[in-house]
Amino acid sequence: MSDKLFVINDKPTIIAGPCSVESRQQLTAVADPLAADSRIGLLRCGIWKPRTHPGGFEGLGEPALQWTDEVHRQHPTLPICCEVARPEHIELCLRHEIRAIWIGARTSVNPFLVGELAEVLRGTDMAVMVKNPITPDVDLWMGAIERLLRCGLSDIAAIHRGFNTYNKFNYRNTPLWEIPIELRRRMPELPLYCDPSHIGGKRDLVASLSQMALDLHFDGLMIECHPDPDNALTDRDQQITPTQLRDMLDNLKTRKNTETGPTDLQRMREQLDLIDSQILQLLSQRMKISKDIGIIKRGHNMPIFQPQRWQQVIERQMTAARQLGLDEQFVKEITEKIHGESLRQQE
Ligand code: PEP
Ligand code: MN
Repeated sequence: MSDKLFVINDKPTIIAGPCSVESRQQLTAVADPLAADSRIGLLRCGIWKPRTHPGGFEGLGEPALQWTDEVHRQHPTLPICCEVARPEHIELCLRHEIRAIWIGARTSVNPFLVGELAEVLRGTDMAVMVKNPITPDVDLWMGAIERLLRCGLSDIAAIHRGFNTYNKFNYRNTPLWEIPIELRRRMPELPLYCDPSHIGGKRDLVASLSQMALDLHFDGLMIECHPDPDNALTDRDQQITPTQLRDMLDNLKTRKNTETGPTDLQRMREQLDLIDSQILQLLSQRMKISKDIGIIKRGHNMPIFQPQRWQQVIERQMTAARQLGLDEQFVKEITEKIHGESLRQQE
């Protein structure tokens, strides 16, 4: 039996708990029902919160660790994890009953900081999760994991929490599934988890994103769970109650463990399916913008079809097709189809 916390097996690891610990009462109200559900493998607790703007609730810090210690005494078989961003955070976790930590997306982006954290962890048996950096860079993500490995840590997992983008269409942090899939190809032994709460940013999206992750052979989920999400001090739109989590887990279809894992062919087909769905999402974004342009054209009494503009579009696409090694006739045909549909939407 491995004494590692993060292992790949046929049962997904479910990590759940509040975005932030807010009070002793709030923590027990969420920890007690989660501890009673045997599917929950780890309790997540936010002690130090990286906030985009100053002045918001930044977590209770060290005092909250007394309450996580109490929860540990109450539920000794439920390991507790929290986010760390500074060496001092790790030192405090080591003095308290924190079994695992995670390095957040705003920290994993910084090799100096990850290196410092890894040094503090050297010689400990802390289990560590590494969230993807905010930028979609698989090497930066992998590099953070390598820094931990070099400091002798071996109980490590990666978490896909999506990537920060300027345009937020459906998601708070855009999932780019090909990036964790590439990380898995490069590090097949590394457990790979998904954080649907921070990807979606809305509680209605948590179930479908969780299912998507399990369908893509992720090994676990990290889900934010709060006793009263609407009044949470952080991330209120995306947290769900322990009861909602229980119902969601009841309905998730987990894959049966295929002994060998997905074959290369399956893996490549999954990549194709993802690209197909991204093409449709982009087309839908394109049509929405097109419709808005239609409104402006009508407002200015401009013709819908403008031959000069069309000439520029087709020339640019032909140049791009040549650069990308795509068949020019093929690209010409799809560009005409897309343009035709755009005009139809504007009418
Ligand atoms: C979190 O898990 O609470 C968090 C801040 O996540 P991320 O680093 O993914 O933004
Ligand atoms: Mn959060």
